[in-house]
Amino acid sequence: PKFVYAFSEGNKDLKDLLGGKGANLAEMTNLGLPVPPGFTITTEACRRFLSGGAVPGGLWEEVEDHLRAMEEKMGKRLGAARDPLLVSVRSGAKFSMPGMMETVLNVGLNDRSVHGLAEEAGDERFAWDSYRRLIQMFGRTVLGIGGDRFEEAIEEAKRHKGVSSDLGLTAADFHHLVEVFKGIVKDETGEDFPYDPRRQLRMAVEAVFDSWNAPRAIVYRRQERIPADLGTAVNVVAMVFGNLGMDSGTGVAFTRDPGSGRRGVYGDYLQNAQGEDVVAGIRNTIALQELQTIDPASYRELLAIMRTLEDHYRDLCDIEFTIERGRLWMLQTRVGKRTAEAAFRIATELADQGLIDMDEAVRRVSGDQLAQLMFPRFAAHDDMRPITRGMNASPGAAVGRAVFGSERAEELAGRGEDVILVRRETTPDDLAGMIAARGVLTSRGGKTSHAAVVARGMGKTCVCGAEELDVDVKERRFTAPGGVVVEEGDVISIDGTTGEVYRGEVSVVDSPVVRYFEGTGDLGDDLIQAVHRIMTHADERRRLGVRANADTPEDAGRARRFGAEGIGLCRTEHMFLGERRRLVEDLILAVSGEERQAALDALEPLQRSDFAGIFAAMDGLPVTVRLIDPPLHEFLPDITALSVQVALAGKDASDRDRRLLAAVRRLHEQNPMLGLRGVRLGLVIPGLFAMQVRAIAEAAAERRAAGGDPRAEIMIPLVGAVQELEQVRDEAARILTETGVEAAIGTMIEVPRAALTAGRIAEAARFFSFGTNDLTQMTWGFSRDDVEGAFFSRYLELGVFGVSPFESIDREGVGRLMSIAVAEGRATRPDLKIGICGEHGGDPESVRFCHEIGLDYVSCSPFRVPVARLEAARGAL
Ligand code: ADP
Ligand code: MG
Ligand code: MG
Repeated sequence: PKFVYAFSEGNKDLKDLLGGKGANLAEMTNLGLPVPPGFTITTEACRRFLSGGAVPGGLWEEVEDHLRAMEEKMGKRLGAARDPLLVSVRSGAKFSMPGMMETVLNVGLNDRSVHGLAEEAGDERFAWDSYRRLIQMFGRTVLGIGGDRFEEAIEEAKRHKGVSSDLGLTAADFHHLVEVFKGIVKDETGEDFPYDPRRQLRMAVEAVFDSWNAPRAIVYRRQERIPADLGTAVNVVAMVFGNLGMDSGTGVAFTRDPGSGRRGVYGDYLQNAQGEDVVAGIRNTIALQELQTIDPASYRELLAIMRTLEDHYRDLCDIEFTIERGRLWMLQTRVGKRTAEAAFRIATELADQGLIDMDEAVRRVSGDQLAQLMFPRFAAHDDMRPITRGMNASPGAAVGRAVFGSERAEELAGRGEDVILVRRETTPDDLAGMIAARGVLTSRGGKTSHAAVVARGMGKTCVCGAEELDVDVKERRFTAPGGVVVEEGDVISIDGTTGEVYRGEVSVVDSPVVRYFEGTGDLGDDLIQAVHRIMTHADERRRLGVRANADTPEDAGRARRFGAEGIGLCRTEHMFLGERRRLVEDLILAVSGEERQAALDALEPLQRSDFAGIFAAMDGLPVTVRLIDPPLHEFLPDITALSVQVALAGKDASDRDRRLLAAVRRLHEQNPMLGLRGVRLGLVIPGLFAMQVRAIAEAAAERRAAGGDPRAEIMIPLVGAVQELEQVRDEAARILTETGVEAAIGTMIEVPRAALTAGRIAEAARFFSFGTNDLTQMTWGFSRDDVEGAFFSRYLELGVFGVSPFESIDREGVGRLMSIAVAEGRATRPDLKIGICGEHGGDPESVRFCHEIGLDYVSCSPFRVPVARLEAARGAL
């Protein structure tokens, strides 16, 4: 293959082959912008070098051809004794990896060509400065010498001279530094600095190839999920010089503000400097606007080029440029990174300018960015330092009193206090406390730990895995580094966006975007306008419906304001917790039919009023109620605690406690998640599901009588066989007929067997809803609550999966089961309605997958509803 492309041969769409930098240098060249001549060695050459341990055959010949063409064009020869051509050798991968890999400037200088450069430029100081930079960069990058020795030598030279900036060093000082640097090279490598210009070039190219596998590049790629096998391209570019005096300089700029997205002139400039100096911070940069007075002509030209680039790329661009004695040169451009806020503003503004249409505007923003805009935030807090830092598990800002258990959390929250639940890790037992708390802080577990997953689902701020904290739940306190002790009741602040933990109160402000969704936002704000327009267009474009998972009238109301078109999952479990737990215990203890009926009779009116409130909040929209589905053990007292209690009480133990203990022993399960739950519970405890169906039917009937429009759907959990469903359906249908209420009966698809027999199951179900939490757990055969600490991080490291399958649907496995169920279910019943109600319903990637396989709707937590609306549109476009 062809390994080398002149800039004039490439274009911006060749990023795979030429890397981002090379493709964009080519694009600018072809746009007629002032780019120094140069060429790009392909990523393919890099991949071959890395796998074969040597550059591929023919590469150096191709490089030589392009170099010669460049020399001819410029009338200069690389590293010649008179008027030498110098080049930079620059890395540039497909995805930008800022500062991760290497670049060497001024290649071609040696003891002879340095004189030629000085003569041509009429500037001795410049030439020796450029030479010492080459040895320094080459030494570090190519020869692997630690940068400190060079830095120290420069500091020493400045000290000796009594100056504070490199501007105070003369030609003689730099000449001296070159000698010192050469000594360092010899000392560190045992060899002389390579004087042959072509050898310098080849060594630099190989070093850039190698930098693909530098440890920090590997870490960065893992973090940013950039594939490890892409390799980098290498750009060889004729040098232009920003260090030729005060009429020269170098800078970076954005075509608009990457923080806010607003138009204007944003950038930094440094006079008499080269490349790295701007970012290295060796001198203070000046604002780009000041260039207007320093060099008005170049400034005007730069602004015009920035407009050209933005119009051409139809997006925000960032650029690197250099001015050599009043002549402007473009050295890099790319579509620039931006904040979430800027993304929304830029997308709508470009649409207003007619550069993109609204479909493209919707593509230009993401659900993750919208989610970021929805989290409450800490106001500026310069005066406070974090006491520790954990993982940023669920964004937002939360302030409250530290509490160490659910009961205390509920108690204080009940009194109107804000609390932060602090635990070593959380379990389903902590759910009530998590609901009551403003935020959750744990010292163990990663981003897929129970605390993190549940908090994200609830849109609740969470910092997890803050390992420096010693959490003592018994003593109700934690200790942070430096001996900081936080006792129960002390106020702490946690930032789920950064993972920072503060002692004391940092003030929090509400997100204006949430106020907008709530209907109380300021429509005059241009950010809100941008969000509004994009969401409106997204709703027009999406095919996929969006519902919410909501168990209370409050959540249902919020979900509706956020745009939910119904409830896809109304869980009934929590309706049995708290004070009602005793009634559930009675149900489990019941020996006779009468006892059981009495317990059910006590529960029914409570359930009815639960449903009435939800139907009211979702009037006119579907509400899918899932019949009870908890692992039974969650309702029963802890077996150890109860055993101890009964043993200690001895003869005095109450009859109820003894019976309870017997029941707990009888019902104890080794694998509760695979045990007596879901439809199995309904089939084993007579009357339980019937009671729930009656409560639903009666609540709906009441609502209708009152003039409302309730649309109940009844959903059976954990079905694996059509026979299970038939049993429950027949009983439920009878009750519905009795009450004269119409409600569709359907099933969760969350057991692999259900997906595989979906054609049969659809005979008894009017709708399916994928419970992808359980479906993932059962498909992989690992327990969501136990995998985190055990092996997930290792699996991520090994690349078994790139992202936890609990975060984003595993398309290959779980997704395949879903596709099968969709196809076979619809084959049986063409009008089968199909949705998803697992955690994944609010995950951007998974929402797009659901669109692809033709689901009717996704259902997610109220807070994620706008995210799902947006991603549903992005999937459809
Ligand atoms: P990075 O990817 O880290 O930004 P670059 O390859 O862009 O690395 O180079 C680093 C710096 O060197 C940039 O500021 C760039 O402007 C400057 N530079 C690179 N090539 C040249 C050149 N041919 N002439 C002048 N400056 C250059
Ligand atoms: Mg750069
Ligand atoms: Mg389930």
